[in-house]
Amino acid sequence: MPGMELFGEEERKEVMDVLETGILFRYNFDGPRKGIWKARTFEEEFARYHGVKHCHMCANGTAADIISLASVGVGAGDEVIVPPFSFIAPIEAVLTVGAVPVFAEIDETLCLSPDGIEAAVTPRTKAVLLVHLFGSMARVEEIARVCEKRGLILIEDAAPALGASVGGRLAGTFGKVGCFSFDFFKVITAGEGGAVITDDREVYETAHMYGDHGHDHLGDNRGAEKHPILGLNFRVSELHAAVGLAQLRKLDAILARQRRFQARLREAFSGFPQIAFREVPDPAGDSATTLGFLLPDAATAARVHEELGKAGIGTAYWYRNNFHYLRNWEHLKGLKSAYRLPIRLLEDCPDYAGVRLPRTEEIMSRMQMIEIRLSWTEEHVDTITEKTREVLRKVLGG
Ligand SMILES: *Cc1c(COP(=O)(O)O)cnc(C)c1O
Repeated sequence: MPGMELFGEEERKEVMDVLETGILFRYNFDGPRKGIWKARTFEEEFARYHGVKHCHMCANGTAADIISLASVGVGAGDEVIVPPFSFIAPIEAVLTVGAVPVFAEIDETLCLSPDGIEAAVTPRTKAVLLVHLFGSMARVEEIARVCEKRGLILIEDAAPALGASVGGRLAGTFGKVGCFSFDFFKVITAGEGGAVITDDREVYETAHMYGDHGHDHLGDNRGAEKHPILGLNFRVSELHAAVGLAQLRKLDAILARQRRFQARLREAFSGFPQIAFREVPDPAGDSATTLGFLLPDAATAARVHEELGKAGIGTAYWYRNNFHYLRNWEHLKGLKSAYRLPIRLLEDCPDYAGVRLPRTEEIMSRMQMIEIRLSWTEEHVDTITEKTREVLRKVLGG
């Protein structure tokens, strides 16, 4: 949970800039804001960092997912292929635009697999919402080719993998749009915040309008602006954008530290051929927020999780976690919303309780993760590396 661990003087300075002008709104007030545009500056720097033409900053990552889907024209009756192992936000986003989430298998990257996607395509499939999970990426080049061949729109949710790359190309830049979150638990944080990036001018224009009630954002008179489309309010405030800006400027330092600690922690696993690391399509591009590994079977995984816990090393055993895996999404299985979902959507959605994904189930039952923390010291990394090795020896022998 890097960003939150590095909060300091830089964030305070950016926030103070905003408080001094008193303009907390991201648009308009050209005079009184005295040249202070935090959301706009964040967008420029974030786009430049990713080598893309456009960035739209918004209120949070869930909003970024919704804005992306809306901006590429996904809507009622469309199917969107989504991963069963993910934060649930992208799935909620698909339902919110009236489209149908269709689950496909993951592979050892822990993200959607190219084969799994192919197998889930139907004549109604409009897009793939690919999530790059927990610091690393899917086999995105192959997936982009599948999408191309099948005429599907690729949307990348890179919220948990900011700064990860394949072949030097950053997560979020392979698809038509990329989405990010800067909530309190992400690589960098704005408190709450999100972004959508794209090279497509039309998608960008739709995104900023849709995220602000359809305002066209032309000129400096909000009252006189036109509204080419309906939208919603997914605006980010200048205060949040200010924090995000300071954090963005720390991103490379965050990535370097994570990568160093993760490389050291990997040493704990050498000499245990029964354990495989999560597959990383381009090892140089792992953003290294976590270290994921697969045990030979579910029973051993449960045992390792328990023993590491006793040794003070918490691992995430997502198979049992109740909010990152389809198996435990009772609310989705019952399609329980706060309001009556549209009839059409209810008719189109498959029975989520009956979805069977054997490969995913098998991988999930054997996999766990250690989260890399920026607040660790070099000595602490030595200690957990040593303790992890001891636990593995105890459970696996050797
Ligand atoms: C965190 C996250 C989101 C949602 O972000 P919020 O800013 O919390 O709304 C969306 N997708 C994925 C994959 C995430 O991990």
